[in-house]
Amino acid sequence: MKNCLVVDDSKVIRKVARHILESLDIKVTEACDGRDALNQCEAAIPDVVLLDWNMPVMSGMEFLQELSRTKMDARPKVIFCTTENGIGHIKAAVEAGADEYVMKPFDRDTLESKLQIVGVI
Ligand SMILES: [Mg+2]
Repeated sequence: MKNCLVVDDSKVIRKVARHILESLDIKVTEACDGRDALNQCEAAIPDVVLLDWNMPVMSGMEFLQELSRTKMDARPKVIFCTTENGIGHIKAAVEAGADEYVMKPFDRDTLESKLQIVGVI
């Protein structure tokens, strides 16, 4: 079973993502900001990280930068989430190491196809 770490400061978004991912037979863990996510990745590397952009404490971008500086046995795939307003972030996120992006609000089909693109399912 593959693992996905859902990183979002919104409990509602985490819940929606969890519901979709579990329906795709993916095990879900949750983090509420980039720092929390980084700590969890250092403890156990997930197969994929679904990463929000705007979060308190540590943003998605800061998380990507820290992740690339951190020595790890394996790298999780990273799908970052953006809104229509944040579409300009895509290039910056990909340059910082994101593998794919998904627009919020996302549905099951969209998330499934992104997970296929990064090779998680
Ligand atoms: Mg947010």
